[in-house]
Amino acid sequence: MTRDVDKRQGPWLFPIPMESARDLCRFVDASPSPWHAAAAVVERLLAKGFQRYDLRSPSWDVKPGAGFVHRNGSVIAWRLREGALRRFAVVGAHTDSPNLRLKPRAAYTSEGCLQLGVEVYGGALWNSWLDRDLGLAGVVFTDDGEAHRLRVHRPVARVSQLAIHLDRGVNTDGLKLNPQLHLAPTWGLARGGVDAAETLLGLLARSAGVDPGAVRSHDVSLYDLTASTLGGLDDELVFAPRLDNLACTHAGLAAMESAEQGPDGTCAVLACFDHEEVGSVSVDGADGTLLSVVLERLAEERGLGRSAWHAAVASSLMLSADMAHAAHPNYPDKHEPRHKPVLGGGPVLKTNYNLRYGSSAPTAAALRGLAARAGVTLQDFVTRSDIGCGSTIGPLCASRLGMPVADLGTPMLSMHSARECAAAADHPQLISLLATHLTV
Ligand code: ZN
Repeated sequence: MTRDVDKRQGPWLFPIPMESARDLCRFVDASPSPWHAAAAVVERLLAKGFQRYDLRSPSWDVKPGAGFVHRNGSVIAWRLREGALRRFAVVGAHTDSPNLRLKPRAAYTSEGCLQLGVEVYGGALWNSWLDRDLGLAGVVFTDDGEAHRLRVHRPVARVSQLAIHLDRGVNTDGLKLNPQLHLAPTWGLARGGVDAAETLLGLLARSAGVDPGAVRSHDVSLYDLTASTLGGLDDELVFAPRLDNLACTHAGLAAMESAEQGPDGTCAVLACFDHEEVGSVSVDGADGTLLSVVLERLAEERGLGRSAWHAAVASSLMLSADMAHAAHPNYPDKHEPRHKPVLGGGPVLKTNYNLRYGSSAPTAAALRGLAARAGVTLQDFVTRSDIGCGSTIGPLCASRLGMPVADLGTPMLSMHSARECAAAADHPQLISLLATHLTV
């Protein structure tokens, strides 16, 4: 039995709160790699009438309206409104998640099996990749310079855990994994005469719809085939891969889709970056120039001089949306006793005075004001003083752009596992909060 439960107050964008979580599940399942996530964002932007601009084009001739640029796993979208451009209201998120990536020469054989050499991307929980049915997703580039997305959406591989009979202490002493030795997926039997490299190239090329001889490079991830779903007693939980950070990417997208109206002079911006999980230092990452270049080009196209540009940036606010740690019911002592967000308790303001997050007293105050306006309850997260703090694109964007940033996110469990968990009711609240930011 499925019941939609809504005991909350507020002007929700989705009339039934579960509907936004179901939409999130569809978005996550359509996005098994950053390449696919960016494409899924683009598809929805185009459906909403956003116009595509090319970063390589010297003139955009931008008019008030909705536009975007897309490069690799990143997308920057905007709604430029009438009147003199005076400020930006930015939502930032990331499209990538920790996973296993194929090495350039991935295919080999061992003990009669076809194996894949993988590199761990980001801070994955390695154990969560064991004994799962895995597909392949990503992109190949051909000799004409074109990208071709590919997806092998069937159980083509698995990383097999060692039997307990051969590792008697694993349950009590802990699982120890060497990423070079123990995370290689098996993807078939090395029958006599099989050329593993040629077979893999053929599989990737066929999935991408290109000639194997034309493939020059690839960026291909493994992903868990289990579909995203609502779960729990009343379907109040979301069980899904890649919630960090596709949940915030989806929330930002839903907010952007709805943000048609807004004050003249405020440009609403959604920035979805690749490479957050590995530090963001890339051409498409938040520590690169992508966002500043797009904003500067919009400003220049709208006739802003240098002083007016700097004034606009100083008047702006970025909300860096990335998932947050909910208090774990089995490990309550892992959390700061007075800053424990709970699942279903609403979006989380993240604070770290050592600047692992971008939030500051002024931006926290601004975010609380937006939450009050949106009718959204904010929870507070601070890590324990004796446990290190993760980071986000927030501090990078603040320093690179010179723009005030507040960090927030949705509470979740199992962060960086191949399979994560959040509360369905928190999702529409985050969307409402981000939409308020983009429209006031
Ligand atoms: Zn994240």
